[in-house]
Parts: sequence; structure tokens; C-alpha cells
Amino acid sequence: MRPDPLRRRLLLLLAASSLSALPLSRQVLAQETRRARTASGTAADGAGKGLKVIVIGAGIAGLTAASSLAEAGAEVIVLEARDRIGGRIFTDHSLGIPVEHGANFIHGFNGNPVAELSTEAGATPFFIDGEQWQVFERGGSEPEDFELDDVFDDLEVIEDRAVEEADGDAQQSLLDIIEMFDPALLKEPIGNWALTDAYEGEFGAPLAQISALHFDAGESFDGPDAVLKEGYVTLADYLAEGLDIRLGQTARAVRHAGDVVSVETSGGVLTADHCIVTVPLGVLKSGAITFDPPLPEPQRKAIAALGFGRLAKVAVAFDEAFWPEEPHFIGYAAETRGRFADMLNLVPIHEAPVLTMVASGDYAEKVDAMDEAALRADVTAVLRDIFGEKASAPKAVLRHVWSRDPHALGAYSFIAVGASPSDFEALAMPASPRLLLAGEHTSADYFGTVHGALMSGERAAEALLAGRKG
Ligand SMILES: Cc1cc2nc3c(=O)[nH]c(=O)nc-3n(C[C@H](O)[C@H](O)[C@H](O)COP(=O)(O)OP(=O)(O)OC[C@H]3O[C@@H](n4cnc5c(N)ncnc54)[C@H](O)[C@@H]3O)c2cc1C
Repeated sequence: MRPDPLRRRLLLLLAASSLSALPLSRQVLAQETRRARTASGTAADGAGKGLKVIVIGAGIAGLTAASSLAEAGAEVIVLEARDRIGGRIFTDHSLGIPVEHGANFIHGFNGNPVAELSTEAGATPFFIDGEQWQVFERGGSEPEDFELDDVFDDLEVIEDRAVEEADGDAQQSLLDIIEMFDPALLKEPIGNWALTDAYEGEFGAPLAQISALHFDAGESFDGPDAVLKEGYVTLADYLAEGLDIRLGQTARAVRHAGDVVSVETSGGVLTADHCIVTVPLGVLKSGAITFDPPLPEPQRKAIAALGFGRLAKVAVAFDEAFWPEEPHFIGYAAETRGRFADMLNLVPIHEAPVLTMVASGDYAEKVDAMDEAALRADVTAVLRDIFGEKASAPKAVLRHVWSRDPHALGAYSFIAVGASPSDFEALAMPASPRLLLAGEHTSADYFGTVHGALMSGERAAEALLAGRKG
């Protein structure tokens, strides 16, 4: 997920006050987080002593659950299919700076538990400034302010009317509503840029798949978005300290009838009192893990109904920057919707001539299908469209194809046509006395985010510890 234009508009108003207030509040947050952990019973009060738990997945949900349980004295084993931890937090250091293939931003720093964790972990936030973005059209011209204001106004109208117009019909998509109200938006590059930035990039899915009835479900935190200067993986590393994490262990089957739960992996069978399964929704949809007995019907229905989207994120490095160095974001109003509409500029963040270019909607599928040469040609063509001959050939092009990654099979969850927020709630319910699911797809309020995943891990750990106390 990325900051959308309506949110950025609000940030413009908030930027000055919240940015100046943050450095002080970071220290306070760190102290409060520790205090809260100690007070909440997820800390070392021994509530988990004698409890044996297997956590499947070493993403932020699994690591949070495991560290809370281990702190409370439980015996925890984390099984991870990959040869690294972090899951969809995937920081690549091969360019000498941290480049994020997966999650990039802490969305809304104020009160966000991921912000608190980053403070605890000693990571340095770089705050995204709501004023620092610049949109280009083909040929390098920039839309007038009034044109941008007009499209933002159009989006606000769509946001105000969509739910009403969907009129309870869960099959209505955002595309249906836009075609009804403002089909012109779909024909103009600037309209398509705004639609990409606000919806297709935000949800990681084409407009035709996003539910009009529930597109505005969920909550968000206030304050600016932030990037961690040391890389998002710092948080995974921090949580992983001292945990028993077994890499290269792919779970294939979970048996959860009776007094124990047993997990069959590529390396053998393990047993425990409880299991927390945090694999992504894409993996659950694929059936790569079998459950015996099968997951309850509402959970199976939710897994089928919810969407699991796609984003094609490509980091492109150059010898030197030929684009404006100040903006944090560069937008591209392309002829084709979703064609690298948003780029994060790493010059202000890392003083490195690198752009992270994001393709979304139907165009993301095209990008995922491109081989390395075609991808290089496509990103170069986009940059030449904007900056002309100044745009040099990239020195390096890096990407991770999440839709083909067998341990993700997509980007993150969203409410697809036919689904509803209650599907997230169903996934958050215990599957049985021995089995819980966690992960961003189990968070009705914060699905699709790192903080949603983190909070789901806390919820699962607390549920197990509360069960013991009760
Ligand atoms: C391109 C992209 C950009 C994003 N941008 C942002 C952003 O800016 N801000 C934000 O808040 N969120 C963002 N997100 C979403 C965020 O990354 C996720 O919501 C969050 O990291 C999910 O954490 P999780 O623990 O639920 O799942 P994961 O991180 O996916 O962890 C699940 C783990 O399970 C493992 N696993 C899978 N199958 C098995 C198996 N059979 N056996 C054992 N282990 C298995 C996986 O390898 C993985 O490590 C982005 C995601 C993507 C893909």
C-alpha cells in the first residue's frame, strides 16, 4: 500500500505541525511501548509457561506472535518456508542502500504500533512530506494545479457516492461506479493516474475487482507515512532475536483434532499444544497447506471471497539522478492506466540515484509477465517519455515477482466484489481450540498492512495466553 492523493492532501495540512512534533514523541513512544507490553500480560509474567506453540510463517505477524509468547514463557517454534525471515517485508541491500521489494511505508506514524516497534528497535524514520510530490505527463509537462484539484474533487464525489450507488449490491465494482458517474476519468491520463494512485495502487488490484460497497472499509492511523532508513527488515530482525526459527521448513499439513496439533513439514512432523498459521492469503487460497479437520466453513468462504492483489514494484538504479531530486514521489500520468504511475524517489531518503517504480492494476500483470530485457526496456521508455534523452540507461533493475512467489502468490488482501469486511473477522476467529490464523488478511481494520499483520500476531498470542489464564 502507498500513500494516496486524498491522504496526501490531508497531509499537506498536517505536515508542518506533526513533523516538528515527532522526534520528541519517539522517545516517549518507546518507553510507553515497553510499559504497555509489561502491563498487558503478554510480557514476561510467566503466563505462557508450559505452553508449546508452533507458529507457521516468519513474517511480521508470526514474529510478533512468537516473540510475545516467548516473552510470556511459552516454548515456541517458528517454521518458515523461505531461507530468510520477514515475508513480505523484504529489504534488498545489493545496491548498497536498503531497497524494499515488499512493504515500504509505515502508514500513519502517530499511534501506529509499527512506529512504536521501530522506535524500540532503534530504527530511523524518514518522514514522507505531503507537499513533496510532482506529477508529470508524457513529454515532461506538468498538469496545472486546477487540473489536479479537479480530479481530486472527482475522486471525492466517487468516494461520497460509491456506497450509496452500490445500493447493497456486493457485486458492484469501483469500475462500475466510475463508469456510471465519471467515465471521462477513465479516458484522461491524469484521471487514470489519480485512479491508480488512490485505488488500484492502494488495493493492489484492478478497479473491476474492488468492491464498491466496501472499498472504504478499514481504519488508518494519523500522521505522516515513514520509511525506515535502515530498511524495514530491521523490525523483523529485532523481533526475531532469541526465537527458535527454522528456515527452509515448508508446512504442508496441519492436524488439529484432539489434544495436540501436529504439523507436517518438508523436514518431518512436529507437535505442539497450539498452532498459529500466518501464511499469506494467496497460500491459503492455493490449498498448499491441508487442514484436518478442514477449516470452518466461514473461513473457507472468506478465503475464497477476499481478493489477494498484485503490485509490480521495480527498483531502477542510475549513475546519477536526471529527475528532480527534491520530490519524495514522482507521478506519471501515462496513456495506459497503471503503467508505473507512482515512483518513490530514493534521492531524498538515501541520497542514492534510485527510483522505485510501481505498476498496478491490469498493467501489473503485464509487468510480471515481462522478462528482464522487456522490463528494462519498459521502465526506460517510461522515463524517456517524461525526461527525454536526459534519461540514461539504468545501471541496475531489481524486482521480486510476488504473484509468482510460491510463499506469497500475490501482494496483499483487499475486499473484492462479493466479499465483505466480515470475511476478515471470520479469519480472525479460532479455527479450533488448537488452531488460530493470523496475518494481515485476518485484520478487519488494518488488512493489507504491516501494522494489521503485527496486531493480528498480538491478537493471536493474547488469545492463547488468555485461554490459559481463563
Ligand atoms: C509490493 C508490496 C508493497 C507493500 N507495501 C506496504 C507498505 O508500504 N506498507 C504496509 O504497511 N504494508 C505494505 N505491504 C503489505 C505488507 O507487506 C503485508 O501486509 C505484511 O508484511 C504481511 O505480513 P504477514 O506476517 O501477514 O505475512 P508475510 O509477511 O507474508 O509472512 C508470512 C510468512 O509465511 C511464510 N510461508 C508461506 N507459506 C509457508 C509454508 N507453507 N510453510 C512455512 N512458511 C510459509 C512466508 O514465506 C512468509 O515469510 C506491501 C506488500 C507488498 C507485496
